[in-house]
Amino acid sequence: LLQVFLPLGFLGTIYSVIKHALSDMERMFELLDREPEVQDIPDAQDLKVELGEVRFEEVEFGYDAERQIIHGLSFRVPAGKKLAIVGPSGAGKSTLARLLYRFYDVDAGTITLDGQDIAKATQRSVRDAIAIVPQDTVLFNDTIFYNIHYANLDATREEVVEAARVAAIHDFIESLPDGYDTVVGERGLKLSGGEKQRVAIARAVLKNPRILIFDEATSSLDSASEQSILSALRDVAAEHTTISIAHRLSTITDSDEILVMDGGRISERGTHAELMVLNGVYTNMWRLQQAEDDSCEASVEPLSP
Ligand code: ATP
Repeated sequence: LLQVFLPLGFLGTIYSVIKHALSDMERMFELLDREPEVQDIPDAQDLKVELGEVRFEEVEFGYDAERQIIHGLSFRVPAGKKLAIVGPSGAGKSTLARLLYRFYDVDAGTITLDGQDIAKATQRSVRDAIAIVPQDTVLFNDTIFYNIHYANLDATREEVVEAARVAAIHDFIESLPDGYDTVVGERGLKLSGGEKQRVAIARAVLKNPRILIFDEATSSLDSASEQSILSALRDVAAEHTTISIAHRLSTITDSDEILVMDGGRISERGTHAELMVLNGVYTNMWRLQQAEDDSCEASVEPLSP
């Protein structure tokens, strides 16, 4: 009898191991699916990015031939400056970030980092020069330590902890039962949107490239977490060229330049003050958001006795 049952139990274990391995693989293919291969040209050189100047010149792009998404877009972010991109859903904001990270190659025009065309450089060196803090961070089913460390596997444990401190997530990690060894992700401890975004900021800090892209979450974080994430990000961004895709205009008023995008084109550009004087699309967006904020505040005011 024992002989019959033992192998069955054993098979069950193997089955569950294989099932887990398969779901990891599926996840990897999902990721690969979202990041189609861009081919390096035969004699591609590594980029040398020391300053971190970003330039888009007459960039044209569509995900497929039938529908052009980006139309002749030009802008420059000087090294160490802050650019914000705003505009309605579908305007092409995230597409710009994907082009800069070279998930896709442009159809026409050029994107340069410190004057070097990214389409002619190795994809790896482009991605080494940039860190993205995405809207939704993918976590590995592994320890929170590994989830930060993987951004730079040469970093020491002290450096990982320091990055977590800068990203304002160290205290949270320390409060977990197994601290940095707590397993997170799908099959571990599930982190909130704000906590995941802080992990992404810690990764960016540890990677420490010249250029930082921040894709602000549309999902509403509570205002306290939003403020603490923003202040963590400000510390990180201080010495970096930063491109922020923003939904809340109040978070980007200090940008060196704001691009207002619509239908894959820039409809207005300038600093917050300059755009407010224009009294156009941006001013309207600003007034609408102020009105929303006011009505939110009004709705949470305590009822008078
Ligand atoms: P949101 O504020 O909603 O994130 P966005 O301004 O970032 O919007 P993009 O995500 O850049 O907009 O999308 C621009 C256009 O490109 C949209 O019309 C969208 O449908 C299309 N698009 C985005 N990703 C793909 C894709 N992988 N394949 C085909 N079309 C896409």
